[in-house]
Amino acid sequence: MIEERTMETKQIGEIYRISGPVITAQGLSARMHDVVRVGKEKLIGEVIQIIEDKTIIQVYEETSGIQPGEVVENTGLPLSVELGPGLLKSIYDGIQRPLPELEKKTGKFIKRGAVVNSLNREKEWDFVPTVKNGDAVEGGAIIGTVQETETIVHKVMVPPKIKGTVKSINKGKFKVEDVVCELESGEKITLMQRWPIRHPRPTKDKLPPEIPLITGMRILDALFPLAKGGTAAIPGPFGAGKTVTQQSLAKYSDAEIVVYIGCGERGNEMTEVLTEFPKLEDPKTGKPLMNRTVLIANTSNMPVAAREASVYTGITIAEYFRDMGYDVSMMADSTSRWAESMREISSRLEEMPGEEGYPPYLGSKLAEFYERAGRCVSLNDEVGSVTVIGAVSPPGGDFSEPVTQNTLRIVKVFWALDAKLSSRRHYPSINWLQSYSLYKNTLDPWYNKNVSSDWSKLNDESMKILQEEEKLQELVQLVGSDALPEKQQVTLEVARLLREFFLQQNAFHKTDAFSSLDKTKAILETILWVADKAYETLDKGVRAKDIVSIESRNKISEAKFDEDYQKVLSNVKKQIEAELKELVENI
Ligand code: ADP
Ligand code: MG
Repeated sequence: MIEERTMETKQIGEIYRISGPVITAQGLSARMHDVVRVGKEKLIGEVIQIIEDKTIIQVYEETSGIQPGEVVENTGLPLSVELGPGLLKSIYDGIQRPLPELEKKTGKFIKRGAVVNSLNREKEWDFVPTVKNGDAVEGGAIIGTVQETETIVHKVMVPPKIKGTVKSINKGKFKVEDVVCELESGEKITLMQRWPIRHPRPTKDKLPPEIPLITGMRILDALFPLAKGGTAAIPGPFGAGKTVTQQSLAKYSDAEIVVYIGCGERGNEMTEVLTEFPKLEDPKTGKPLMNRTVLIANTSNMPVAAREASVYTGITIAEYFRDMGYDVSMMADSTSRWAESMREISSRLEEMPGEEGYPPYLGSKLAEFYERAGRCVSLNDEVGSVTVIGAVSPPGGDFSEPVTQNTLRIVKVFWALDAKLSSRRHYPSINWLQSYSLYKNTLDPWYNKNVSSDWSKLNDESMKILQEEEKLQELVQLVGSDALPEKQQVTLEVARLLREFFLQQNAFHKTDAFSSLDKTKAILETILWVADKAYETLDKGVRAKDIVSIESRNKISEAKFDEDYQKVLSNVKKQIEAELKELVENI
């Protein structure tokens, strides 16, 4: 299907009807997802429906002032992205037009119909071949490399579905459109290739979710882990911390490549992303984070259809780096804005609305998108992954609305942000009672083997204490904490230590922002050790109110902010032990 489409079949039709971003053309014999140029200004659009002699097109640019009767031209090509060296560090709009180039070409208010190449055509890249004449290659095979940024090597691959014997292979400086390799069949391979965004790139095999994406966020790694190639949703009301969480994940998680799609909630939020992101430093290399990032931005002055496409543009780029054997993580902030663009297009199409006006196919669209995540063996036998993390912003923070509900049915990890926690300045405001990870069972063996054999035991224990706290809190509301049995008073204090010194983590503190798995475990272990000691002391006859108010307990907090957390924790343990001993002696 894809090969057929590479034949250019230009056809001309005319505009029949205009409804916002949706245009109906007649006289055009297009195929689904063909890219068309609409009107005198040649606005970029895509065929989304064909009904008899009418072709329905969603237009990726502002359509005001366009008139019926104006010409519509079919390019005969599916909406595709350009894949090759130069993707990293780029900032694109939803249909992969580089925003800085667009701005240079057309000024601050981007002119309509502007055609700008996604990849720079002039820049030369140093290509180092990894195959030789006579080698047999096929789709996905790596034929050479380019040092794309200071930190990332770009692997140049044979496009899927091409196969043959290398006739000639070059070495040296090339532009993206230059031929670097020719096959006996006459097929010419350049540094760049194209791929239609609505088709997943092919792989050989999908692997089970057995390796975690290490995030450096204690609550996520310990309690609600995400697998490489997995899917997660972060729903939360405005201001609860979706963007901060997504950006922490972009900075600190152990993905090698980040594709970040911004669909801003407020107009200025995207501007913030566009100005802030290029300044972010990669904590692993000390170099700009953009070295391993592709940013896709839907600014508020862009039409909704571009937002609809942006998610596919992003995931296709993510799949391309996955095929090179990289672990890629893709953040979409927020998928609610994406769903809203679907709703708007659907209503323009006068489709029968589903729940809250969203199209009835909302769930299947979301599923199709998240299904493109995965840890895969690519055609060249490299193993790479695309992990998808979608923020969801339900109006009023009400998780029962359709986008949150449909997303929950699909994703395996749910990190529920809670306005109550953020208003108490408990960050990250991830609600530990509502959140879950369906990867826990498949990931526990990895953690138990690679971090510590008691990893899952410690986490389960801490979760039990937190759940018990919830029940006890209800009792406290009724009878007051003094009326609780002594043991439960101690439990409440242990739960507080867990919340404040383990779950809370400051995304803006240079040391606390990232917690290694060893550090995460050490803090957790210390708190649970305190719990054991406290119950022991209670059994010896010390009053709970004395145990829960020993001074040194709050010093555990210092470990979060200290590089030498081991030393801090071992000192704290000694002090706690001494204080508890004194209590026993003074009975
Ligand atoms: P949302 O995207 O959900 O609307 P933001 O991510 O912009 O919310 O978070 C709002 C504010 O909450 C941030 O500006 C920051 O001050 C605070 N915040 C959120 N998460 C954290 C965190 N992990 N550490 C410190 N502050 C946080
Ligand atoms: Mg936000």
